[in-house]
Amino acid sequence: MNPSQISAPGLPGQPHVAYRNGSLHVEDLALADLAHEHGTPLFVYSKAAMLSALAAYQRGFAGRKALICYAMKANSSLAVLQVFARAGCGFDIVSGGELDRVLAAGGDPAKVIFSGVGKTCAEMRRALDVGIACFNVESEAELEVLSAVAVQAGKTARVSIRVNPNVDPKTHPYISTGLKGNKFGVAHERALLAYRRAASLPGLEVVGIDCHIGSQITQESPYLDAMDRVLDLVESIEMAGIPIHHIDFGGGLGIDYNGDTPPQADALWKQLLAKLDTRGFGDRQFMIEPGRSLVGNAGVCLTEVLYLKPGEQKNFCIIDAAMNDLPRPAMYQAFHQIVPLSPRNEDASVYDVVGPVCESGDWIGHDRQLAVQAGDHLAVLSAGAYCMSMASNYNTRARAAEVLVDGDKVHVIRARETIADLFRQEKLLP
Ligand SMILES: *Cc1c(COP(=O)(O)O)cnc(C)c1O
Repeated sequence: MNPSQISAPGLPGQPHVAYRNGSLHVEDLALADLAHEHGTPLFVYSKAAMLSALAAYQRGFAGRKALICYAMKANSSLAVLQVFARAGCGFDIVSGGELDRVLAAGGDPAKVIFSGVGKTCAEMRRALDVGIACFNVESEAELEVLSAVAVQAGKTARVSIRVNPNVDPKTHPYISTGLKGNKFGVAHERALLAYRRAASLPGLEVVGIDCHIGSQITQESPYLDAMDRVLDLVESIEMAGIPIHHIDFGGGLGIDYNGDTPPQADALWKQLLAKLDTRGFGDRQFMIEPGRSLVGNAGVCLTEVLYLKPGEQKNFCIIDAAMNDLPRPAMYQAFHQIVPLSPRNEDASVYDVVGPVCESGDWIGHDRQLAVQAGDHLAVLSAGAYCMSMASNYNTRARAAEVLVDGDKVHVIRARETIADLFRQEKLLP
């Protein structure tokens, strides 16, 4: 027997993705079979991977009053939300559209928190009507508007103020959110003032405090620093007579894309909770808003090699997935591993792996060693977060299909878009 058949260790960071008998699998299913059956590009998610990522947080918070709110912008497909809703999660939303997705997936609105710098009155009204847990308010102006909307609706809006602890998360500038120059949150220095104002407004009830310092954080120190800064604020806000019932530390924990070594969620929270205990806040209600770390390494994107195009300076491997399916490389120069579904016993060449979109920015990986031929299938790894949820129709490309694997079963959770879908809302001139 092939030894890989017995142990089948997963790929780094992705224990649910593994080669068996020379063929890449997610859980018990061969990805080549899924590619043939459902076509490419195809997103494939592992339910077990999502639940095991969630379990690490649940272990970390065992015995505490805590609510894990999945930051659904990472992957907002209804069936993915269903997996987390059934596991007891709440949701961190950033738009009224996301709220409707939570409701459509059977999520509990009483476990929804609403973040974002630009909430409209209509979005606030809808969130009040369905009874969300809390608005994470991001500016002083938003406090005034939210209070007015709540008074008009005859309701009280529970609020937390997102404070900006001015901590460097040591990540890519586009995904760092807790520094002074960022558009997010209320400056540390103004937070007490904002809390006094919130407490005085008729439509608001102050219930918590929150922060979120960035994404793909791979070190513990930014979390520890931000926690100290937030707890300092809680002390001064409560000294001013405004009780803070919950503390929300946001999301941002990184994943292993390419040898990254972020702390494990349970180990990280063991440390953070020890600090909370030391500072006398251990019995508070905690909230967290993880996104990427729950879904990023639960997904892969399958793609077919269309052409090999050797060149003087570069060889190109042109695939049928593009920046409209996998926007992270173009947006953040992000790295995704790219591996064959059925590795060939041939010498590898170095390729730039690119899509068909008419942009030089449409690349998926630079300088990759691959032994491939046209017609082969590849998997772009770590594609569960900020891929499908950011996908577009640029170049009139239909968005990919999505399937969810659960053991040896597969569920189509999103049919491939048709071209007719793309211009259904458009009108010809008379
Ligand atoms: C995006 C976002 C998150 C989730 O970030 P991840 O890096 O995906 O964990 C959490 N909270 C807020 C407010 C966000 O905007």
